[in-house]
Amino acid sequence: MTRILAISDEVSPFVYSQNFPENLGPIDLVVSAGDIPGYLLEFLATKLTVPPVYVLGNHANGYLRGEEDAPPRLPGGCINAHRRVVEVAGVTIAGIEGSLRYRPGEHQYEGATMERFALELAPRLALQRARGRRLDVLLTHAAPQGPHEGEDRPHRGVAAFNRMHRWWRPRLHVHGHVHLNGANAPRRYVSAEGVEVVNAFGFTMIDLP
Ligand SMILES: [Zn+2]
Repeated sequence: MTRILAISDEVSPFVYSQNFPENLGPIDLVVSAGDIPGYLLEFLATKLTVPPVYVLGNHANGYLRGEEDAPPRLPGGCINAHRRVVEVAGVTIAGIEGSLRYRPGEHQYEGATMERFALELAPRLALQRARGRRLDVLLTHAAPQGPHEGEDRPHRGVAAFNRMHRWWRPRLHVHGHVHLNGANAPRRYVSAEGVEVVNAFGFTMIDLP
């Protein structure tokens, strides 16, 4: 059993806490599904022995201010999983950052670009499969099409992620981007392909058998 702390979109006082990580119990792995400030990722990197794995969100506030005139930098001691397949704490993770494009700016992509990112990951994932290893976690900022997508343009679900469910049957898909504000907003569901889809908004603990 691997105990995963998943975070996104909002800094929870339970995570950014003097009592962390004892207050949340044992944590084997941290995944951040985007729009988490870089300082929080670096905080988690110093508190735990495994590097947090993250993708950036469309607001790209994962960056930290550089020293003096240096450009903004990404958090240290963490692993950016965008367009990569990484293995941390015995868990394989494939990542795709950002959201569908709804205005000019970075970390927003056309649907065709999301499809290309998914295709680029295919050779690595096929190799893993040939070695008998399944993709454990698909880590994205935006949601797949389905119950977790929003009704407005910025929060549309990404069809490429549903395709990845069909191709690779990941055990878990952790995403963010869609804020869970309503009292009955669902945090989890199981897709038609048997993928457990979890909205990490704020923070949530996930047990991966
Ligand atoms: Zn977002």
